[in-house]
Amino acid sequence: MVKRLVATFLRGGIHPDPHKEATRDLPVVDFPASLQVTLPLIQHLGAPAVPLVKKGDVVRRGQKIADSPDSGAPLHATISGKVKNIDRHPHPTLAISQAIVIARSAEEPLVEEEWIEDPNWQECPPAEILARVREAGIVGLGGAAFPTWRKLTLPPDARVDVLVLNGAECEPFLTSDFRLMVERPREVLEGALVIARAIDVYDVRIGIESDKGEALERMGAELRRLPASPVEISLVSCATRYPQGAEKQLVQATTGRLVPLRCLPSAVGVLVQNVATAAAVREAVRFRRPLMDLTVCVTGPGVMQPRNVRAPIGTQLQELVDFCGGSREGTSRVIAGGPMMGRSLPRLDVPLVKGMNGLVLLTGPSPYTGGYDACVHCGRCLEACPLGLEPDQVGVYVEAGRQVETETFGALDCYECGCCTYACPSHRPLVQFMQVAKSAVRRSQAAKVLKG
Ligand code: SF4
Ligand code: SF4
Repeated sequence: MVKRLVATFLRGGIHPDPHKEATRDLPVVDFPASLQVTLPLIQHLGAPAVPLVKKGDVVRRGQKIADSPDSGAPLHATISGKVKNIDRHPHPTLAISQAIVIARSAEEPLVEEEWIEDPNWQECPPAEILARVREAGIVGLGGAAFPTWRKLTLPPDARVDVLVLNGAECEPFLTSDFRLMVERPREVLEGALVIARAIDVYDVRIGIESDKGEALERMGAELRRLPASPVEISLVSCATRYPQGAEKQLVQATTGRLVPLRCLPSAVGVLVQNVATAAAVREAVRFRRPLMDLTVCVTGPGVMQPRNVRAPIGTQLQELVDFCGGSREGTSRVIAGGPMMGRSLPRLDVPLVKGMNGLVLLTGPSPYTGGYDACVHCGRCLEACPLGLEPDQVGVYVEAGRQVETETFGALDCYECGCCTYACPSHRPLVQFMQVAKSAVRRSQAAKVLKG
C-alpha cells in the first residue's frame, strides 16, 4: 500500500547545501574486476573474525574465509585467487588491523560460488532468516557496521511492531541509497518483507526525503506491483532536513514516536534498517549470497568524474578514485562517509570496508584551519541540536579542563551529527568538544566502578 505523508522530526536540524547533483542522475557503474583485495578481519562492531584460510590457499569469490566466533560477522572472498598473505595492513578507521589479502592475475577468470535460488524463500522461518543473514556477513550499510543478525535478534521482552527502513540519505553529497531505490526498488521492498517476517511485524514504513522524488516514484510504482501481503508497507515522504536519517529523528518522522535519550528505537516498538541493508538481506535469504560488494558514492569537488561505483569489499580506495578519473589539484581532504558524520582519512591506500557508502573529496581549507573564537552565547547550537543538548556549555567546560562535569549537558547522549558545529558563527569545534567530554565522562564512570 502506498501512503503519502510529509513528516519530519520536531526539534533542531539544519539545511546544508545537498550537493547531490553531480551523481544523482548517473546509474551505478561496476568497478572492473580487481586483481587484489585486502579484507580486514574487523569490519563490524564486535569480535574480530578469525581466518579459515591460510597463505597460499586458492579461494572462490563468495567463499567464507573468516568467521567471528560470537558477536561479529563472517567475511567472504570478494574476488577469486590465492591468499597472498594474512598480516597487518592499514585500515580506514582503525589505523591498522589484521587482514587477508587475495590476489589473482589478469589472465585468471573470476570464479564465483554458485548461488541457487531457494524456491521457498518467502516462507523462510524467522530463525532460518537470522541464520542466513549471519552467514552472509551482513552489517548495517548505513555506516554503523553493526552485525545485522544481532540487530534482528530482539530481546524476549521487546515489543516491536513497526519496521522503519531508512531511505532518507540526508548526508550532503551521497546518492548511493537514492540510486538503489531508483534502480532496484524491488530488492529493497522484498528485503523489507523478509526483515518484517524475521521480527514478526506487519507495519513497514520507508522514510525517504521529499527532494528524492524519483525514488519515491519508483518505490511507489514497484510497491503497487507487489503481490498482496498481510504486511502493510507505507512510503513516508520526509522533509529534507539534516539529520532526517538519524534513527531517533527518522522514527519520530515516520511513526510520531519519540525515542527517549540513551534508548534504542526498540524502546518505542520500532526497529530501523537501512535500505541497502534490506536489499542485502534479500540476497542472503533468497540466494544465500553473502555481502561481497558495496555501492560507494565517490564524489565531491576534488573528484574528476563523480559517480556511484559498485566495487568488491577490499578494493583499495585509491583505485576507486582513479576509476573516477583521479583527484583534482587542490584536493585537501578525503572523508569516508558523508561530510557531516564521516571520518577524515589520512591516506587512500586503505581498503573499502563494510558500511562505507561514500568517499567525498573536498577542496579548500578545513573549516578549522583558521582557528575558532569564544562563544558569543547566540544560542544557535541549542536551536540546531536535534536532541536538545547543550553543546555550548560542553565546549566551555572542556576548555576549562572540567570535562567530567559535562554529563548534565548531554555529553553521553550526543551522537555527533554535527548540527551544532555547522550552526556556530564562532566556528567552535563543538563535536570535537563533545567527543573529548564523552570519553572523559566514560573514563570517570569506569574508574568509579573499578573502585567499587
Ligand atoms: S553533535 Fe551532538 S550536541 Fe551537536 S547537535 Fe548533534 S547531537 Fe547535538
Ligand atoms: S552557536 Fe557557538 S557561539 Fe553560539 S552559543 Fe553555541 S557555541 Fe556559543
